Amino acid sequence: MAAKNLQSIRGIHDGLVTEVRLWQRVEAAARKTFGRYAFSEVRLPILEPSELFVRSIGEATDIVSKEMYAFTDQGGDHICLRPEGTAGATRAYLQAGLTRSGTQRWFYIGPMFRRERPQKGRLRQFQQIGVEMFGAQGPLEDAEILAMAHAFLSELNISGLQLEINSLGCAACRPAYHDALMGYLHARTDHLCATCNDRMNTNPMRILDCKNTQCQTQLDDVPEMVKHLCNDCEQHFSGLKSGLQALDVPYQINARIVRGLDYYNRTAFEIVTDQLGAQGTVLAGGRYDGLVSQLGGPPTAAIGFAAGLERLGMLLAEQDASHADTGLVEIAVVAIGESVLQYSMQRAAQLRNDGFNVVHCGGGNAKRQFKTADREGARFVVIIGEDEMRQGCVSLKTMATGKQQQVSNKDLNAAINLEQ
Ligand code: ATP
Ligand code: MG
Repeated sequence: MAAKNLQSIRGIHDGLVTEVRLWQRVEAAARKTFGRYAFSEVRLPILEPSELFVRSIGEATDIVSKEMYAFTDQGGDHICLRPEGTAGATRAYLQAGLTRSGTQRWFYIGPMFRRERPQKGRLRQFQQIGVEMFGAQGPLEDAEILAMAHAFLSELNISGLQLEINSLGCAACRPAYHDALMGYLHARTDHLCATCNDRMNTNPMRILDCKNTQCQTQLDDVPEMVKHLCNDCEQHFSGLKSGLQALDVPYQINARIVRGLDYYNRTAFEIVTDQLGAQGTVLAGGRYDGLVSQLGGPPTAAIGFAAGLERLGMLLAEQDASHADTGLVEIAVVAIGESVLQYSMQRAAQLRNDGFNVVHCGGGNAKRQFKTADREGARFVVIIGEDEMRQGCVSLKTMATGKQQQVSNKDLNAAINLEQ
């Protein structure tokens, strides 16, 4: 009886060649842009103590209450596959004793894990490009971080992206807002979904971004945090707005941005697209001034964001399908006859040294080798027989035009560049 093929876990996705190429384009844009803003890469663990997320993200959040891949290991430790990067980055910052070392500007790229309901753009293992800045006091830093996020996505030329900003206030102004919000919501409980009714008791601000349209219609006149800010928060928010204007970064205010996690204060933002259905947020973040002290460090202002690599890859794929998969192979080497096999391998090695991406078609049957060259999507075929070996030349075939010419070894690179 044939064994049944094993499948990956639902909501977990294989990144195969074409997609990884898209991801690498996104990563390259991130490294380039973040470098310009003097952010450095860190590589942080995937496994973290479960308690880290309970203490930072908050017990009432979706992530901690139902989405964590948490388990007890063979030694009895409570361990979790990280659902996001900020908590781990903060732990690492504290553990390395960096609280007196001035501003830290970090970025990371890696997998995150959440047991969500799988759908387009929503996976259980997905990748984030994240940025964290510890010691980011004022609105100037906020504006620069948002400008950096904007520059990163501009580098990718994705059209139709919109930056939305909001302020979540602080411990001084949120309680009064909370009361106003609860007053408004209490009068409408019958019309809100079950999840929102639960959130009334746990995390009422999250009701603002409920995806249920019935709930959204109830929120037309809901009190907005931006209209209840204390003086300091108000000044911070207007500093951010004028910073963005000075840097020519277009934005809109969206009072419904609340972020799912407990640790955010003041600035919250998202970059959204209308091209991915309900999963339209490609980048999201905010200020988390309370997190470092919540995890045991001194008060430290901080801000960060994370972008979903898969969602950005999907946008790139939709946008320029042609660019998405230009073949990797530039040159395929075809060897005609057993006697030239080793020589042709040396020629292939030389072409690689010269900077070309080369496959050797393996020698043997010529027709099969040409078929291989074709399947590899090679742009050029370099054909080497005994005559060519003896004369120090090759036959160069340009696949796009079918043109074939004899070129001496020393002129080969120039001839290829001319044909490109
Ligand atoms: P959403 O509103 O889509 O659930 P989120 O607020 O949970 O997003 P964050 O925790 O801020 O998202 O993560 C930042 C980014 O990571 C998101 O904007 C998105 O691009 C990506 N992301 C988050 N969760 C997933 C997931 N389950 N699958 C794929 N990408 C995700
Ligand atoms: Mg989510």
